[in-house]
Amino acid sequence: MLYPQEFDVIVVGGGHAGTEAAVAAARMGCRTLLLTHNIETLGQMSCNPSIGGIGKGHLVKEVDALGGAMALATDEAGIQFRILNSSKGPAVRATRAQADRVLYKAAIRRRLENQPNLMLFQQAVDDLTVEGDRVTGAVTQAGIRFRGRTVVLTAGTFLDGKIHVGLNNYSGGRAGDPPAVSLSARLKELKLPQGRLKTGTPPRLDGRTIDFSKCEEQPGDLDPVPVFSFVGDAAMHPGQVPCWITHTNERTHEIIRSGFDRSPMFTGKIEGVGPRYCPSVEDKINRFAGKDSHQVFLEPEGLTTNEFYPNGISTSLPFDIQYQLVRSMAGLENAHILRPGYAIEYDYFDPRGLRRSFETRQVAGLFFAGQINGTTGYEEAAAQGLFAGVNAALQCRGEEAWVPARDEAYLGVLVDDLITKGVTEPYRMFTSRAEFRLQLREDNADIRLTETGRRLGLVDDARWDVFNRKRDAVSRETQRLRSVWVNPRNLPAAEAQRVLGTSIEREYNLADLLRRPDVTYAGLMSLNGGAYATAGVTPRALGPLWAPVVEQIEIAAKYAGYIERQKDEVERAAAYEHLKLPPDLDFMQVEALSIEVRQKLNQHRPETLGLASRISGVTPAAISLLLIHLKKNR
Ligand code: FAD
Repeated sequence: MLYPQEFDVIVVGGGHAGTEAAVAAARMGCRTLLLTHNIETLGQMSCNPSIGGIGKGHLVKEVDALGGAMALATDEAGIQFRILNSSKGPAVRATRAQADRVLYKAAIRRRLENQPNLMLFQQAVDDLTVEGDRVTGAVTQAGIRFRGRTVVLTAGTFLDGKIHVGLNNYSGGRAGDPPAVSLSARLKELKLPQGRLKTGTPPRLDGRTIDFSKCEEQPGDLDPVPVFSFVGDAAMHPGQVPCWITHTNERTHEIIRSGFDRSPMFTGKIEGVGPRYCPSVEDKINRFAGKDSHQVFLEPEGLTTNEFYPNGISTSLPFDIQYQLVRSMAGLENAHILRPGYAIEYDYFDPRGLRRSFETRQVAGLFFAGQINGTTGYEEAAAQGLFAGVNAALQCRGEEAWVPARDEAYLGVLVDDLITKGVTEPYRMFTSRAEFRLQLREDNADIRLTETGRRLGLVDDARWDVFNRKRDAVSRETQRLRSVWVNPRNLPAAEAQRVLGTSIEREYNLADLLRRPDVTYAGLMSLNGGAYATAGVTPRALGPLWAPVVEQIEIAAKYAGYIERQKDEVERAAAYEHLKLPPDLDFMQVEALSIEVRQKLNQHRPETLGLASRISGVTPAAISLLLIHLKKNR
């Protein structure tokens, strides 16, 4: 049957990428359809029940600043929140939340079901319809044909997915879900550049059989409890619970080694490359043979279940080995495994085959986002989903693609890394991937992106209002701090010591004092009113200030020098970044370059010097030589 309605954007897959893509396109006014295997699994977390962390939390905040769903859903479902790196600089501070799986899925589903312009339909997609070089729709397993002007494919780990437990393997998209085999075959037919990757997950444990008295308790941050969304509130959080820590030991490692001969990884059954930064426990024992213990976090999967996720023992070893290795650890001597650990191998598509908008080069109107692009992680998927959803919607409107720059957003870094460097292993975000990380902080993601989100049509009135109030309050209070002066004659020594840690010899305004490392905004506000030189100015802020406003003011004051320096660097880099390379430039003729670099450049044909500089193997020295060549041949 041909479905009677035509859609602007059809999103295939209701995981983290698909849900954000669908919400974004619908918010931008496109008639959007989300086609997914199973409505019950919308927003399902395939692996660990947690959102955020270093680099990843930054992406979640950016998705939120652009009106996405992930941060608010986490605020509604988070059962433990922490700020990682809280004692380090603001660039690397990151929010992480343990989430209740059931609440998280419900929060995502509610948003999707209530999103105007968005329709949901449950069916496997087996085929795409293509006319000439343009996608025209999708066909489901039951033969229902949906017409769409664009299609965003977010099939995650499902394309020709193969699950491994020991030497046994079978087809699956993830445990309990079917693979997407026909769709995988169709994509291969379309000659899109493709490869195999793998990832894995640990066995899940029944909390009733864990002896927590033998484990170390790890509480969340309680004062204050962190919040993910810029429009969220700690009052949205359900009950908060602790996590627990145990360790592997020599005996655990012996058990693991005894299973190596039946490991699908070590016996060559798995061909795909796994995530280096999320290795399986057998990989850790093999690679770090000298280490006699590894930490294992026991993370609750929710408030209404006894299931625990033992973070750190992802494995595809045979079940008998999993059983013994779990029981070799303190507190887990009697632990019952509810679900075995496993590895999954799946197809991904080389993201260098995508345009900067994430549209495939081969098939116009077809966009890819999420794990299918060779990434790993819910947050990376969500950010890409939003990005592809926006660009599919812009194409429908006949507008230029939106591509954030590397100095504007981690999303910009992610997109740029993927399309220029591709992947050799599942890609995850780190703060170290960003050159300008001091300006790409979690705390200012809204300042960086919400205005753009509003312009694109992603940000609703309520969020826009909160954003404007915050921005105005920061600006008003910054002005006020500059205009209030502290007079040393009016400042008793004890008061100066308490608030400033030292006495002052001349008048300073509050903004200048706040730049000092040990001076806090709260301290300045507690100064006795008599300290002020300017007559009639009260020491307190104008009404109680919202914590994020104070945070912005403090960071701007304390890091002003570094931030200014980074802005200069960004400007200098921008000059080269956007320098267009002549389309007819024959890189093979640039003799100063090594043959390898010439071949790489010829193969990728970068449009700008910035894009050239990020092709793997193209060194800064090669870029200088290329620049000289361009100047000489101008
Ligand atoms: P998914 O979340 O996989 O969602 C894909 C969606 O598409 C699903 O709803 C599926 O039903 C639907 N779908 C697929 N094909 C079709 C079709 N043909 N028709 C209709 N619907 C379709 N990430 C980490 O960061 N660390 C880890 O340690 C980690 N371990 C993992 C272990 C396992 C076993 C698995 C399965 C995943 C793991 N991940 C891990 C990856 C993480 O789950 C993904 O990065 C993330 O879920 C990707 O989001 P996505 O939206 O791209 O795809």
